[in-house]
Amino acid sequence: MPTASLQTRPRFGEYRCSCGRYWESRLSWARSYQICKRCRKPVYPTNQRELRQSDLTQSQGKENRPEHQKEFCQMCQQLGHYCGTNSNNVKSRRKH
Ligand SMILES: [Zn+2]
Ligand SMILES: [Zn+2]
Repeated sequence: MPTASLQTRPRFGEYRCSCGRYWESRLSWARSYQICKRCRKPVYPTNQRELRQSDLTQSQGKENRPEHQKEFCQMCQQLGHYCGTNSNNVKSRRKH
């Protein structure tokens, strides 16, 4: 069952809820909201930009990256699974 128009790539998004909570996500999808963890309201990104290679490598290297919780992500809910699995197409060049 192909899910049309879900082929786009995730972006880096900034979210600002009316309750004052602010967060960032590397799995920010156009026209998709994320749920505010404080007040449980859907929030659309106030700002989005293309993901940079450094965003992805940083997120892989650090353990303190913010958790992406499926129940707070509209795209995850639509897909029925973690929405970030397709972003692993990045060629993993390891400099070290
Ligand atoms: Zn809120
Ligand atoms: Zn998601």
